[in-house]
Amino acid sequence: MMTGKDYIESLRALNPEIYFLGHKIKSIVDEPMFQPHIHAAAMTYELAHDPEHEEIMAATSHLTGEKINRFTHVHQSIDDLVKKVRAMRLLGQKTATCFQRCVGLDGLCAVYVTAYDIDQKYGTNYHERFNNYLREVQKHDWMPAGAMTDARGDRSLRPSKQVHPDVYLRIKERLEDGIIVRGAKTHITGAINSHEIITMPTRTMTEDDRDYALSFAIPVDTRGVTFVFSRQTNDTRRLDGTIDAGNPKYGIVGGEALIIFNDVFVPWERVFMAGEYDFTTQLVETFAGYHRSNYGGCKVGLADVVIGGSAWVAETHGIGRASHIVDKLTEMIAMAETCWSCTLACSYEGYRTPSGAYHINPLLANVVKLNITRMVYEWMRLAQDIAGGKIITLPSELDLANPEEGKMIEECFYGKEGIPPMDIIKMLRLVENMSVGAGLPEAMHGAGSPAAQKIMIARRGGFERKVDLAKQIAGLTKDTHFERIIGKDEETHWKEVRTKTKEKRVQIS
Ligand code: SF4
Repeated sequence: MMTGKDYIESLRALNPEIYFLGHKIKSIVDEPMFQPHIHAAAMTYELAHDPEHEEIMAATSHLTGEKINRFTHVHQSIDDLVKKVRAMRLLGQKTATCFQRCVGLDGLCAVYVTAYDIDQKYGTNYHERFNNYLREVQKHDWMPAGAMTDARGDRSLRPSKQVHPDVYLRIKERLEDGIIVRGAKTHITGAINSHEIITMPTRTMTEDDRDYALSFAIPVDTRGVTFVFSRQTNDTRRLDGTIDAGNPKYGIVGGEALIIFNDVFVPWERVFMAGEYDFTTQLVETFAGYHRSNYGGCKVGLADVVIGGSAWVAETHGIGRASHIVDKLTEMIAMAETCWSCTLACSYEGYRTPSGAYHINPLLANVVKLNITRMVYEWMRLAQDIAGGKIITLPSELDLANPEEGKMIEECFYGKEGIPPMDIIKMLRLVENMSVGAGLPEAMHGAGSPAAQKIMIARRGGFERKVDLAKQIAGLTKDTHFERIIGKDEETHWKEVRTKTKEKRVQIS
């Protein structure tokens, strides 16, 4: 297993083509705009070496028996699923942002499960190929970026009916030794600081979309692959110093990027789906299930930090014990723990798939994510409420650093006696970063938008079973257990009840 430092050094050996703000980036590791994201991902490596955390951060490979980082492990039990979300809450607490590595992990697990099932139906050897790939991932402790979302063009048209054929990633050509692919994947978390990219289809495909039913893995510096790093709220504050960025160590959200595949060659041994359109729904839903279940882990870790920050700000302004503050902080905790309970439940309710890997409960995973799309906004609203207007009106650190005005500004931000104003400013900037910035829409759209979760919840919500339950209670259908309790059939029972109540009424009148 690599340490955090090893991981950063390992990125130096790669040479991906990356653009940002109209410029080509020479060194990922030395680019100040990327560094916080790299540090956040590095935490997933570092904590696996900490004796206090290695039980949840490391695992044993079911392929080799070696000790590996949990982020390269395909879940082999309910315990693995639970440890994964515990690791995510911990990492959220340690970074207060997206540490990115879960998307690749979920991609590995989803492809593992699906490749096995494809082989069962078609006699292909995808699972064996994938296991060979997984061994490499585990051996080198690689971080693969999970790439699912295509550009998608006109959403009312299927991939094969689009005017521009490359708005969905596709097989352009099939060769003896591999395939040539074209297209793009959008807003891919942690892409520029990953070692590999693992792709998956973004939606259900039909027979006409066969060439879009595609999954493969390639190194990030494969010829023909181009990354364009996305803009984020306040991103260039990183160039102003160490305070205004709010979380200068680990950044904000996951360093997303657009990945363009321009006639990229992929050898067959790295292809795990090539045309089996009837397995696209399974792959998409398996990945989505894994990834949506995570959000009650990582986002709750972030909630722990923002609740702490809000409490500290209130305390240092002398209102820490005011009843309205205590009430708001309590609300924040209750919402965060509700999401946590949900995520634990969907891990404990997991099940073994035919491949041997464990999957979470998909209905509960979608409920986790739907809750997150609302509750993150709600607890961040309360964080803004507690922090007050300062979080959007603070002067810049460039003003604070200017000797002509800096001292005067600092004096305006005194709170309780003995607390350095600069500490108050730093904490307010952290709360601003977490509650006002890109983290909010990330909670909304990451792992799929609310409508996607509702589709899955409606599909798996079991309406028919609920209707049957209501019918039984209302007496529209037979209730065997009730009949056993009363020792007779319902019709006789209600006849007797009606007779008795009639007699009672006569007596009363
Ligand atoms: Fe992981 Fe996704 Fe959470 Fe980022 S948002 S930490 S990738 S689960």
